[in-house]
Amino acid sequence: MAKRDYYEVLGVSKNATDDELKKAYRKLAKQYHPDANPDNKAEAEAKFKEVNEAYETLSNPQKRQMYDQFGPDGPQGFGGAGSYGNGTYTYSTGFDGFGDFGDLGDIFSSFFGGGFGSASRSNRQNGPRKGSDLQYDLEISFEESFLGTERYITINRKETCKNCNGSGAKPGTHPETCTVCHGTGQIKQVQTTILGQMQTMRTCTNCHGTGKVIKEPCENCKGKGTVRNQVRLSVKIPAGVDDNQTIVLRGEGEPGENGGQKGDLYILVHVKAHRLYYRKGNNVLCDIPITFTQATLGAELKIPMVDGTEEKYIIPDGTQAGTKFVIRGKGFKNLNNNSQGDFIFTVQVQVPKKLTRRAKRTFNSAC
Ligand SMILES: [Zn+2]
Ligand SMILES: [Zn+2]
Repeated sequence: MAKRDYYEVLGVSKNATDDELKKAYRKLAKQYHPDANPDNKAEAEAKFKEVNEAYETLSNPQKRQMYDQFGPDGPQGFGGAGSYGNGTYTYSTGFDGFGDFGDLGDIFSSFFGGGFGSASRSNRQNGPRKGSDLQYDLEISFEESFLGTERYITINRKETCKNCNGSGAKPGTHPETCTVCHGTGQIKQVQTTILGQMQTMRTCTNCHGTGKVIKEPCENCKGKGTVRNQVRLSVKIPAGVDDNQTIVLRGEGEPGENGGQKGDLYILVHVKAHRLYYRKGNNVLCDIPITFTQATLGAELKIPMVDGTEEKYIIPDGTQAGTKFVIRGKGFKNLNNNSQGDFIFTVQVQVPKKLTRRAKRTFNSAC
């Protein structure tokens, strides 16, 4: 089924500010919350999920940029990259298994009289949690952005401890189910609110919400289940990538917890300025100096392309300074299709500072 546009889902314009997004989200989340729609739960739940997914993507500046750039299916066709969205949000009815509402817990706590926030927070400690996303700033040359490249980067990230396979328990032993909360990580409490009796949860202090107790911790990770490692990764940079664009390596972030998926690695690309060329859209622009004689009489120029080749280009006689010439299809590749921008050069006529007596005579007789 085709997904609705996220902006449409939230009913905001493409250039909505963070505040506008948040406002729209608050309104819709309240409207469609399944517990506020007891007669129409399934439909409300579907809408609620859709609204959450849209907000999850658009409220994250990087995900939003990717969404604007590549559309709902995410970047395709280069290594490691994939779709986004769907990401961290998990939802099931009732109070078990609510996803990550980030700073929006306050909506629900105001809506549910305070019971919700604490319930979701303690739940998250025991349920599957996606690992942290990481960001890496990568500087590449103008030529690399034009041609595409493969770069190796080294990042420092948490990884699953190999000694205990992430359990945190000494090999040969296992984490044991917490006897206080019987493995749920929570202690139930019943509270009366404006919506009736609400069951709220508080984190179990014996196991800190994990539901498990490690008697003999793994020596390698000291019971944490993860260790910090330096990791070398290859990053494929597609030809045509622009300054400040992001490449997502799915699953190259930090490990999730309790079976949650791995986080993602965001590569933020910075393209160094070039001394000859600059970029506008998918076009390459540059200035080409020509002599006064070439401008007057016309000439065959050799224009240096970004890929290192030369293109012959004939300019007519009487070419004026500042005239632009276009070499079609020699600009940047479009990331989304096979089209290519143009190479546009502007001639800069070099007026000689000193003329020989003979040259002066020639010009005088010509004018
Ligand atoms: Zn370990
Ligand atoms: Zn416990």
